Amino acid sequence: MARVAIVTGGTRGIGEAISLALQAEGVTVAAAYAGNDERARAFSERTGIQAFKWDVADFYACQDGVKRVEAEIGPVDILVNNAGITRDATMKRMTYDMWSDVMRTNLAGCFSMAKAVWDGMTARKYGRIVNIGSINGQAGQYGQVNYAAAKSGIHGFTKALAQEGARVGITVNAIAPGYIDTDMVAAVPEDVLAKIVARIPVGRLGKASEIARGVTFLCGEDAGFVTGSTLSINGGQHMY
Ligand code: NDP
Repeated sequence: MARVAIVTGGTRGIGEAISLALQAEGVTVAAAYAGNDERARAFSERTGIQAFKWDVADFYACQDGVKRVEAEIGPVDILVNNAGITRDATMKRMTYDMWSDVMRTNLAGCFSMAKAVWDGMTARKYGRIVNIGSINGQAGQYGQVNYAAAKSGIHGFTKALAQEGARVGITVNAIAPGYIDTDMVAAVPEDVLAKIVARIPVGRLGKASEIARGVTFLCGEDAGFVTGSTLSINGGQHMY
């Protein structure tokens, strides 16, 4: 039986590359997304991967979403917590809603999704969970106290949950991407982006497929001894 994976935010950007890479490994993928139906439909038509819509910031929607996937596809062996948003502003301008939206989506979403798959993985004594953090969770970033705190939290969450999963065959790891060429980075003003690229030793933005490569490694059947780790994929920008 093929393994079953849920990739949140799996219909575009880094998540799309992760969905495709897992599919290429023979995994049956369910790609979850928030609201961009058009991109999700085009993605499913192109790839044959089923897309499911729910809000990872809503705990109960995550529980229902996982139940839908399990009913339609099968028990979930792999969870990739990739969905994420930015709501950037300096402290002076950041509202509580900007803080809260990012914490609920980027950090609480990881808890809600892991919670929804945990009992099943524990009962079957197998699981792979990969959480997508960020270089900005490791190093901080001006104008991103919300995003940096949420992503930094993901790294702590990963290390704590890895300890609980270790004896029941569940590995929990994180990837900390640097700047990757996706819609999220396209939203950064051109002059700011040029300055960012100038600080990347490799001299370019990363590709979504380069993050996906790390995910397929961590999700491999033979990666059972890798847990609680954070894999930095950032072109040498931050050596942690
Ligand atoms: P994109 O903005 O390109 O895509 C985000 C994806 O997440 C979309 O599929 C979106 O769904 C989904 N999503 C957003 N909010 C929710 C929600 N509340 N519930 C369910 N799904 C949601 O992002 P990237 O591909 O650039 O980033 C992917 C991950 O990588 C994020 O966690 C990001 O923080 C992280 N990252 C990205 C970096 C980069 O340089 N791009 C660098 C470091 C980390 P929909 O299509 O419906 O909107």
